[in-house]
Amino acid sequence: AAPLSQFSLPPKLPSPTSRHVAVIGAGAAGLVTARELGREGHSVVVFEREDQVGGTWVYTPKVESDPIGLDPRRTVVHSSLYQSLRTNLPREVMGFRDFPFVAKRDDEKNVRDPRRFPGHREVLLYLKDFSREFGIGELVRFETEVEYVGLVDGGKWKVRSKKRGELGVDEIYDAVVVCNGHYTEPRIAEIPGVDTWPGKQIHSHNFRIPEPFRDQVVILIGSAASAVDISRDIAAVAKEVHVASRTITDGTIGKQPGYDNLWLRSMIKSAHEDGSVVFQDGSVVFGDVILHCTGYKFHFPFLDTNGIVTVDDNRVGPLYKHIFPPALAPWLSFVGLPWKVIPFPLCELQSQWIAGLLSHRIDLPSEEEMMEDINAFYSTLEVSGKPKRYTHNLAGCQFDYDDWLAIQRGSALSEEWRKQMYSAVSKRKRAQPETYRDEWDDEDLIIQANHDFIKYFP
Ligand code: FAD
Repeated sequence: AAPLSQFSLPPKLPSPTSRHVAVIGAGAAGLVTARELGREGHSVVVFEREDQVGGTWVYTPKVESDPIGLDPRRTVVHSSLYQSLRTNLPREVMGFRDFPFVAKRDDEKNVRDPRRFPGHREVLLYLKDFSREFGIGELVRFETEVEYVGLVDGGKWKVRSKKRGELGVDEIYDAVVVCNGHYTEPRIAEIPGVDTWPGKQIHSHNFRIPEPFRDQVVILIGSAASAVDISRDIAAVAKEVHVASRTITDGTIGKQPGYDNLWLRSMIKSAHEDGSVVFQDGSVVFGDVILHCTGYKFHFPFLDTNGIVTVDDNRVGPLYKHIFPPALAPWLSFVGLPWKVIPFPLCELQSQWIAGLLSHRIDLPSEEEMMEDINAFYSTLEVSGKPKRYTHNLAGCQFDYDDWLAIQRGSALSEEWRKQMYSAVSKRKRAQPETYRDEWDDEDLIIQANHDFIKYFP
């Protein structure tokens, strides 16, 4: 294949105004945001606390001092990856739209993982390829944490950052794009009586390998992708694994097919001093560990907006289209907040829109109109009985959202094969959680995807 650079750097679009923009984070969201801002002619500085790009995809065996993640003084470990993690999306679907995540040959430095649902290291290598291809690394200040972002006179932003081992520095930017990820600050299930329960508690943020659970009775709370993976991982060594889920359907409760030590149970009702845990259906288990696979909180400890942006029950708001607080648009934006989505292409579209708005090549509605849109959206959520914490859950509507963004910017709509493949994989994942990564029947869609990718590898 020809080198990507032949076509991956299109001629710069006419850029009426170039801005000085701070991007916080060099994960997938920050990398693609930096690329899009650069393509639009803005000057970009990316701040990254760690010493490399990749964010979540930089696996570390390190865990935090407080296994449940409640102690605000704990040293934060950013990534929540566990050692055995393979992607839960096929690589065709997962990659950026114009930089497909195709299997690569090993090179002198790295052995590559060609599987369709590769291990986590392959995603990191892909993000590094992306960063190298588009020269993003040169824009990143590594080992530099953003400690404070706040408004100053004239509508600009003060960004205080601190490079490891140095003093903090204040700088002024026209705009700030927040790309700090949202899988680091644990959310914990509230369990009546847990304070007197004698067992251990841990959040999946601090789960790496199953070994510490050998011969233990583990009660795992949650039913999202990582809960499914981790319960199977642990069942290989634990005495018993009991998965407590809010979203069980009748007929699935009880011992799980193919296992003699894995049960699906209703939600936990209470925990007790004698070590027992009582489930809502009345069953009782004496457990050693409660493992909370209960998700994460949005967390922006550096951000000071004078109360304009708040996080309330995991709703970051008010945000127009999950990106802009109307009163501060387009000068403050968030990339990558939506979940139950395909994150990379979604971040790509969000950042393209932001880049075009910052240069005034495209326009936003008025502040009032944006607020009306947000309030109408919140009302729809309320009417449909969705809790606030589901505000950024785009299950069932991510492609409408992606296409809306694409239209704002005049980009291509989501590919039909991507939509169909996502839906096929979601169904397979539910039906065969152990095997969906290695057995499939959407070969026709893979062919269509690869055919589409040819334009990026002429
Ligand atoms: P991150 O990758 O978290 O990057 C944020 C970056 O910001 C980090 O590098 C961090 O160091 C930096 N940062 C944070 N605060 C500061 C600060 N104050 N100053 C400077 N830098 C800062 N997605 C998929 O597409 N496929 C999958 O299979 C998949 N599996 C997943 C499995 C798990 C267990 C988890 C947790 C997530 C998974 N995801 C998956 C979602 C994943 O989060 C996204 O793919 C993507 O990594 C999100 O990128 P991001 O840039 O938004 O956040």
